[in-house]
Amino acid sequence: MSIISKDIQKAIKLLTNDQLVAIPTETVYGLAGNILSEKAIKSIFSTKKRPFFNPLIVHIPSIESLENIVLNIPEKAKLLADAFWPGSMTLVLKKNAKIPDLITAGKDTVAVRIPNHPITLELLKQLPFPLAAPSANPFGSISPTKPEHVERYFKNNIQMVLDGGSCTNGIESTIIGFENDEPIIYRLGALALEDIEAVVGKISIKNKKEESPDAPGMLARHYAPSTRTYLVDNVTHEIKKHQGKKIGILVFKDSLNNTSLTEIILSENGSLQEAAANLYDALHELDHQQLDAIIAERFPDNGLGKSINDRLQRATFSL
Ligand code: AMP
Ligand code: MG
Repeated sequence: MSIISKDIQKAIKLLTNDQLVAIPTETVYGLAGNILSEKAIKSIFSTKKRPFFNPLIVHIPSIESLENIVLNIPEKAKLLADAFWPGSMTLVLKKNAKIPDLITAGKDTVAVRIPNHPITLELLKQLPFPLAAPSANPFGSISPTKPEHVERYFKNNIQMVLDGGSCTNGIESTIIGFENDEPIIYRLGALALEDIEAVVGKISIKNKKEESPDAPGMLARHYAPSTRTYLVDNVTHEIKKHQGKKIGILVFKDSLNNTSLTEIILSENGSLQEAAANLYDALHELDHQQLDAIIAERFPDNGLGKSINDRLQRATFSL
């Protein structure tokens, strides 16, 4: 029997009993558990095979509940929260004593977000505790944007995927940390850099050493299909290097009109938002076709194109 269900009351029951439920958000599906249950949090790590040094994002229903999680809120964090929550932005702030070390990998900061999905907002409002929820995929693999992706990954290892349809934004949240109360981007994501800068001014992108990244979404290989993937400016040129191979093509808006290739166009009318929403489903799709290689076209380096390029770049590293 399928573990995909729309039953919010069932999700509440499971979560209250220290079990995990995969939840829909507008970015990707999350593998959620009660932040105050050690059992639930440990099983998030073991189910995902996620290393313990990789902290989790805490999901809350409202700005008011932020006070139960963090110590102080820098002025620019307030501006950002007012501008973009609920939405695809995660803030990393100084944690208070109630937040278990397991959630934050021992750091004195906690990552927190109000997701913009009606079903999960309803769930969070009804629960007496926040939810820790990393993406609902095995560590390092492509994030899920449909309930079926989660079911395929975890089958009987979890009891329920709360069905909220396809994720409308399709890539992970943009993570913003603070240094001396000034915002800095830890991870590019579903909220475009330009939109953030319109609220708080010019903002830089942190480039940290990989061994102990502030946001492991920054690991060089992450969000990766098992098929060898290439990210190039000129797809036609790259194809010539793979003569006789079974190739899958991922392009932004223009078809190569080559019927001998498996091709996915991410947005025929050239919408970066639509392309982001379709990106992971396309990678899942191509990854299941026993191809020798996937060749992806580089996106324009602005708006969500920057975030899409970031994810495609990380998909190109093979194990
Ligand atoms: P995921 O939900 O799987 O995309 O992973 C959550 C992301 O949030 C990871 O890249 C984490 O490293 C990042 N994150 C969570 N907590 C913190 C924190 N306290 N400081 C920096 N990054 C964090
Ligand atoms: Mg993830």
